Amino acid sequence: MTTELYPRERPGLVRDAAAEAGLGAVLLTPGPDLRYVTGYDAKELERLTCLVVPAEGEAFLVVPRLELPAAQESPAGSLGLELVPWDETDDPYELVARRLPGVRTVGVADRMWAMMALRFRAAMPDAEQVAAGSVLRGLRMRKSAAEVAALREAGAAIDRVHRRVPQIIKPGRTEREVARDIGDAILDEGHARVDFVIVGAGPNGANPHAEPSDRVIRPGEPVVVDIGGTMPSGYCSDSTRNYCVGEPPAEYRAYYAVLEEAQRAAREAVRPGVAPEAVDAAARDVIEAAGYGEHFFHRTGHGIGLETHEEPYIVAGNREPLEPGMAFSVEPGIYPGPHGARIEDIVVCTEDGHEAVNATERGLVVIE
Ligand code: ZN
Ligand code: ZN
Ligand code: ZN
Repeated sequence: MTTELYPRERPGLVRDAAAEAGLGAVLLTPGPDLRYVTGYDAKELERLTCLVVPAEGEAFLVVPRLELPAAQESPAGSLGLELVPWDETDDPYELVARRLPGVRTVGVADRMWAMMALRFRAAMPDAEQVAAGSVLRGLRMRKSAAEVAALREAGAAIDRVHRRVPQIIKPGRTEREVARDIGDAILDEGHARVDFVIVGAGPNGANPHAEPSDRVIRPGEPVVVDIGGTMPSGYCSDSTRNYCVGEPPAEYRAYYAVLEEAQRAAREAVRPGVAPEAVDAAARDVIEAAGYGEHFFHRTGHGIGLETHEEPYIVAGNREPLEPGMAFSVEPGIYPGPHGARIEDIVVCTEDGHEAVNATERGLVVIE
């Protein structure tokens, strides 16, 4: 087994998957799919950068001449890929089309810009475009040992940030001030980028996607802190913990105990062969039985890897069985107002259960 994060065989695996799906080629512009296949974290520019993976033949990377040094220095430079630079007066779409004669179906990256997809359509009028995600999802969902190690590293980094939060939250500070310091800590602790910082105090904690505001955090007011970033490896972190300066209201304590039980039940439901919807139900059943069902109104989780939200989604209706290497969040919440709570860990499905990559205490953190 390779320990490399971006192994040499990836372009070949995509070629095989494309052939199996009946696609003549796959076109990947900058984004998570391109990074997954080559390790190249290419800038998203109006000039075309595109990995072309024909179902027959060798993959090649089309790059603007100005980006050639960056492509060569990236992991893509050591994959043995042909690099095809284009000059300012060339038409790179025609260049790709000329090298794909007779291709009738082409997979385009799910996150390709529309302007590029439309230029490809004009250059290849006989080729039907489909979403390349249908080809890549099977590969990206099953994390390699090296990817799981990268998620562990991301989990440890965001755990270190959560351990610093009790020193950052102080009564009298606003959500925005706290969020700014947490963002700095996310970078200090090894992330390359801050992806999001949710600091929801009191009623804002009952809004799962609240933006940090100028609300002053008061004593006795629970605070939801949901944070994540992207590591230099490209892999993402995402973890939610709950804090309170002093003692929270008694009714909060009551539903927090239910939430801890629901989150544990969902984690413990994870093992190969189990449907994601059963993991969702494991959390939801506990919350509904305690009478809080109407206050848990989002899915239990989402896959994570090179993107914070990717497949598999832990939601009712998803019956595609879990397999070892699948990585996703388990994050039930209860939001009755005028406060709310959510507990979130990233877990990896193992041969016989799960591994949580987050290790901080899940209980309410009371700041004295
Ligand atoms: Zn969310
Ligand atoms: Zn989160
Ligand atoms: Zn999440």
